Amino acid sequence: MSEVKPASKPIQRLNIMTKPIGSKCNIDCTYCYYLSKQDLLGHSKQYDNRFSEEMLEHYIQSYIEQQNFPEIIFHWQGGEPTLLGVKFFRDVVRLQKKYSPKGVTIENNLQTNGILLNDEWGKFLHKNNFLVGISIDGPELIHNAHRTNRTGRGTFKQTMKGIEVLHKHKVNFATLTCVNNVSGASPLEVYRFLRDEVRSPQMQFIPIVEPKSFREIAPQRWLESEQLFQGMPETEPNHPNSIVEPWCVSAYQWGDFLIEVFDEWFNNDVGQVHVPYFEAWIESWMGRVNPLCTHSPMCGKGLAIEHNGDVFACDHYVYPEYKLGNINDKTLEEMQFSPQQEHFGKAKEGSLPTQCRQCEYQFSCFGECPKNRFLKTLQGEPGLNYLCAGWKKFYQHADPYISMLVASMGYPVHKSINPEAMKIRFK
Ligand code: SF4
Ligand code: SF4
Repeated sequence: MSEVKPASKPIQRLNIMTKPIGSKCNIDCTYCYYLSKQDLLGHSKQYDNRFSEEMLEHYIQSYIEQQNFPEIIFHWQGGEPTLLGVKFFRDVVRLQKKYSPKGVTIENNLQTNGILLNDEWGKFLHKNNFLVGISIDGPELIHNAHRTNRTGRGTFKQTMKGIEVLHKHKVNFATLTCVNNVSGASPLEVYRFLRDEVRSPQMQFIPIVEPKSFREIAPQRWLESEQLFQGMPETEPNHPNSIVEPWCVSAYQWGDFLIEVFDEWFNNDVGQVHVPYFEAWIESWMGRVNPLCTHSPMCGKGLAIEHNGDVFACDHYVYPEYKLGNINDKTLEEMQFSPQQEHFGKAKEGSLPTQCRQCEYQFSCFGECPKNRFLKTLQGEPGLNYLCAGWKKFYQHADPYISMLVASMGYPVHKSINPEAMKIRFK
């Protein structure tokens, strides 16, 4: 067993969303952003899209050896990674032990729809201390509106069985709830269900936003002439000529969703229920760097790797234009710290429209994820976030409460950009 590399060079961490089975999944959610990657990336439908044994070993060895930090985290996602079976993940753990230097802790995060989880999985996940992210959108009718199998039937009951397995085997888990046109309309119902029925230890919420062209056109390769002004009726998902898919959450629906969930959490559950969004904003109000990439000034710290070794700039930028290379030809380190990735990372702040630069909540918002910036400001500048109206409504609502909370914890309220957040090393 080798020793952990001395920190002769600056701390180097990698953070890669790993797709060991590509986009293959056992269900067919309406809003999935990843199922279409098989066509986009030209992966054969017959070919068994999965990491080969050699690729898995090469990847695990490289991922460990190219970091000099005592805590290394692997992220397994899909498609549906549990389709690979428990044996695949036993091999993962065996290889991690083989290449892990003394003094380094390896952690694993696994994102799943929970359908295949059984006692064998439960024992394995508990024993190996995996953190499981489980996708559930709310109570049965809300979940089943979009999380369906290939025959169109809802998957709620199967996912709830998977959650029972996690509780029974005391597996660490977090819920991941997609806020779409249906779940977005019932914030309290969704939140109380996750809190009281699922007993979620940590609730992650993700706004579902996809322009109609998302299957073929990479973010920020949109034609400027086709970007609509904020507030135009065609930006609403239910408009017949909408520019977004009908299952998207609307900007105001998103703002209202956050407000209702925040109020319930603030009045009853602070310190009891973990909502990463709210906790991250508290950090922003304390003057610290927001830990969420979507609300940081820069992108570029999290890559994605496909089953064939192709590496992309981010999980949401798995498009040919944003491919950085393949691990058979380049090192992960080379790709992570490449000029191409640096350009991608800095463009998040560099491309903010004036409306964001002048916004009093820029310090906590940073125009959110660039993949969602496909509107024009009222002044005609491109690159405004589709959810802007919702973000702003939420920030204005939550500001006094978050300020109060920060003050009650004994910290000064510090609503400005932390200069540390602007420092990110690419090379
Ligand atoms: S593109 Fe979006 S998801 Fe990717 S790093 Fe940037 S903010 Fe995060
Ligand atoms: S709230 Fe709107 S204007 Fe303000 S930073 Fe966010 S996206 Fe930009």
